[in-house]
Amino acid sequence: MYALKNSVASSPFDNEKEAILAWEQGKEVVTNNPVLLSIESTSVCNLRCVMCPHAIGAVHRPKHMDQEIAGKLENFLKSAKNVQLHGIGEPLLSPAFWQFLSAIKDNHQAHIEVNSNAVLLTDTAIEKILNSNLSTINISLDGCSREMYKKIRGESFEKVAKNIKRLCEKRNERPDSKLKVWLNMTIMKENYKEIVHFVHFAKAIGADHTHFNDLNDFDPEALASWAVTKGDFTFKYSEQMIGDIIDDVTKNLQEAKSHAEILRIGFSISGNKKLHLE
Ligand code: SF4
Repeated sequence: MYALKNSVASSPFDNEKEAILAWEQGKEVVTNNPVLLSIESTSVCNLRCVMCPHAIGAVHRPKHMDQEIAGKLENFLKSAKNVQLHGIGEPLLSPAFWQFLSAIKDNHQAHIEVNSNAVLLTDTAIEKILNSNLSTINISLDGCSREMYKKIRGESFEKVAKNIKRLCEKRNERPDSKLKVWLNMTIMKENYKEIVHFVHFAKAIGADHTHFNDLNDFDPEALASWAVTKGDFTFKYSEQMIGDIIDDVTKNLQEAKSHAEILRIGFSISGNKKLHLE
């Protein structure tokens, strides 16, 4: 149970200490604010990626978070140690997202992250991000070629790559910036052959880290009707899961990991239990 405080925000470290103490003492009613905040700043998206519920109209009544509600979360934001500002949508579209970024400006102890597709990463958005206290932007690409990006995400790869490169360049002009740029790839049968190349692309464009996960491991029968066509590619969810090619995927991931070490770029994987490396 939580006794609502949200009046005077303690510092993130003090708040965390209070939380740990309450846990160690087995308290059933705690007075600390949340240490981790996961806030869906919007469920509206400008893309319809083939593996996303947006592509099949399964995100019901998408909308931005109400800014009045967002304002009520400000003290929580100031005392949290980890803050995620995304859900199933594109945060750069959301006024609440930009409101959160300004609200959290003075919490330098927090790790603040956001997922974005980077399509709307204009120079103005880049400036606002670099003037904020954002720690990590996770940009999902799912491939590193024009054709693959178009098949999966349906947008211009050149445009997005240019946006990311610009973000990295602008960030590098500010040695005191703490922003890290992660590039993400959701692995499926269609794109797993781009895994190694993805690491090289990320390095070339100036990103700090590459992250790989795979499609949600849902029951293939439940996904049988999930089919989305983009151009001449039809994505069928149940046929794109990597269970039966896991050895090939693992080999590519292993190779990508060694390349990442040589190139000195971050590398990590998550997702289903199938994806793991020695
Ligand atoms: S950008 Fe993200 S939220 Fe938007 S459609 Fe693609 S996967 Fe879904």
